[in-house]
Amino acid sequence: MTDNPQPPDLDTMPRFAGVATFMRLPVEHDFSKIDIALAGVPWDGGTTNRAGARHGPREIRNMSSLIRRINHASGIAPFSLCRVADVGDAPVNPISVPDSLDRIRTFYERIASAGAVPLSAGGDHLVTLPILRAIAARRPVGMVHFDAHSDTQDSYFGGERYTHGTPFRRAVEEGLLDPKRTVQIGIRGSLYDAHDLDFARDAGMRIITIEEFYGLGIDAVIAEARRVAGDGPTYVSFDVDGLDPVYAPGTGTPEIGGFTTHEAQRMIRGLQGLDLIGGDVVEVAPPFDPSGNTAIVGATMMFEILCVLADARSRRKR
Ligand code: MN
Ligand code: MN
Repeated sequence: MTDNPQPPDLDTMPRFAGVATFMRLPVEHDFSKIDIALAGVPWDGGTTNRAGARHGPREIRNMSSLIRRINHASGIAPFSLCRVADVGDAPVNPISVPDSLDRIRTFYERIASAGAVPLSAGGDHLVTLPILRAIAARRPVGMVHFDAHSDTQDSYFGGERYTHGTPFRRAVEEGLLDPKRTVQIGIRGSLYDAHDLDFARDAGMRIITIEEFYGLGIDAVIAEARRVAGDGPTYVSFDVDGLDPVYAPGTGTPEIGGFTTHEAQRMIRGLQGLDLIGGDVVEVAPPFDPSGNTAIVGATMMFEILCVLADARSRRKR
């Protein structure tokens, strides 16, 4: 046993008690003391339709009290491998997109310059752009992206270039994301135009539609994701609308016919061994989540990402 922060054990405190933090970890504002920073980004100013993801971090913190210490499938004990803490929320401005993007980037620059790796709870999917601006500034990174949507549109509403439907086009344009090391899994849903996915495909992203996902089978999808991401630094971005809305109804842009929670867990576990440098779970929208189940799913996917991230971080440290 290490002296790293751990969620309290079953002798200490009931899980419904205490101040809600991610996975019942301590809050730590000195980023130099931690290896993995669990952060919230309570902002949905990029949302084009049903807003509400600004409330995601608080509900994910609440439901993350269900998380224990060890991954039953992989055996990974992330809190033993790494010093993990809740670093609070990125500062945001709910009435300004550009100011929010700057504030979020600055917050993540502080995390990165302290040598910590971020794992975030959104927020809508635009929050991934300022996170990448902070942690991929020196070289483009690869990405394993779970989503119903490619999020590579050019603009909305006559020229708005910063929305939750555009972050990965901007990230490629800005040299943050290596499209040839990017795989998008679960893509589906009706399109505005037959050319909606052309940018992603032309840039070299590997799109695995939900139809191809079920045609290939999960082990082949994992192998393909690992092949695309390769050996370089890789970010994991998990939009809960990649899941079927049966499992995650509390989100702004649900699309039926998605993968299951178990399939998502297996895919994330299948990323163990990649050079993972950060991750996020986005688009949990509590106003559309009366049962709280989507927040439980979001918290659990954060834990699954945390396990493979802690494994990667601890191997780099050695
Ligand atoms: Mn998305
Ligand atoms: Mn989506």
